[in-house]
Amino acid sequence: MSSSFQAPRGTYDILPATAATVLAVREALAAPLRRAGYGYIETPVFEDVKLFSRGVGESTDIVSKEMFTLTRRSDEDLALRPEGTASVLRATLEANLHRIGNLPVKLWYSGSQYRYEKPQKGRYRQFWQVGAEAIGAEDPALDAELVILAHDAYRSLGLRDFRILLNSLGDKTCRPVYRAALQEFLGGLDLDEETVRRAAINPLRVLDDKRPEVAKQLVGAPRLRDYLCEDCKAYHERVRELLTAAGVGFEDDDKLVRGLDYYTRTTFEFVHDGLGAQSAVGGGGRYDGLSEMIGGPALPSVGWALGVDRTVLALEAEGIELPGPAGTDVFAVPLGDEARRVLFGAVTELRREGLSADIVYGPKGLKAAMKAADRSGARYAVVAGERDLAENLVQLKDLTSGDQTPVALDALVTTLKEKLK
Ligand code: AMP
Repeated sequence: MSSSFQAPRGTYDILPATAATVLAVREALAAPLRRAGYGYIETPVFEDVKLFSRGVGESTDIVSKEMFTLTRRSDEDLALRPEGTASVLRATLEANLHRIGNLPVKLWYSGSQYRYEKPQKGRYRQFWQVGAEAIGAEDPALDAELVILAHDAYRSLGLRDFRILLNSLGDKTCRPVYRAALQEFLGGLDLDEETVRRAAINPLRVLDDKRPEVAKQLVGAPRLRDYLCEDCKAYHERVRELLTAAGVGFEDDDKLVRGLDYYTRTTFEFVHDGLGAQSAVGGGGRYDGLSEMIGGPALPSVGWALGVDRTVLALEAEGIELPGPAGTDVFAVPLGDEARRVLFGAVTELRREGLSADIVYGPKGLKAAMKAADRSGARYAVVAGERDLAENLVQLKDLTSGDQTPVALDALVTTLKEKLK
């Protein structure tokens, strides 16, 4: 019988059968970052709600519709974090990391994020990201580095069917000119009320609207690439060259926008073609204005967040199975109280010697105990009853071949270590 409770809508449990893959994915996404000088950071899962309304933007769905806010008895509102960048930047400024060490401050994180979205495959209300932020430097090589690291992380998992979409959003010189031109164009279209409102606050995001009735009207919209200033063009060209030189293929995508005012220049997304509607496995870009938005100094920065849940789905879609963790080496089957005392000691010793060992618990007969040993996946069972112990022996059973040999109790650990080498 199951309990009367279920995991909340839009959430799921990571059970041991899939946990190995999840852990391996988190590790694989992080490994290239460690090799590139990124330090690990953890921030709280909740923050002042205003950090996100300013740091992610009031006009985004993430903030306006999807935030999990927590109200406490005092008048301070908190929210579960919907993404990592704002928190990491807040922590950097609070601890003065940008003043103490080298710039850029390179940080990576791994953790759960919360968005009140309509759940579907690949879209959850609690999901996991591994993210990276390089704070306080403006250099096309840094943008390229991050894209290369994400690319290499996916490749190290064996993934092949992903594409990198790349765009430049311009900067505070050229973007406003484009924004005005786009707004004028959008003003001449037949759009619903909400889209008209979005066009007023955040016109670039309208370009991302995938609804056919909107998308078909967008043909002929002014293109950002035609408005980029010389500096932005040169910067973007350099990023593209560095990616090409690193053997990282990408597609230029004019429609890729992160429509917040402080997102600047490089923006990119990793999409996987085996995932259906929720095809983005990761994304990021440059956010030169964000620090100032949350009260800090000018700190041009770039970062990304890769979705762990969707990376696991991408592995499934490509039929890739990651090697699981090593199973139990040894399973002890004591027959009687004295044998339990002795074998429990032996199991503790085996574990301390670095082998993975388990023992049957609870009152079980020999048959049930041997079944438990088989189910554990162990290579060897150690069986002992009173008669064996009287002779200071245990029976070592190879669970693959079924062969059984007596071994002196005090030679058990060395024998098993030898056999399992
Ligand atoms: P974003 O912060 O929206 O740019 O998302 C970065 C990555 O996080 C996406 O590419 C997805 O892989 C993942 N992601 C975002 N939202 C969700 C969600 N609701 N459920 C699962 N993964 C998500």
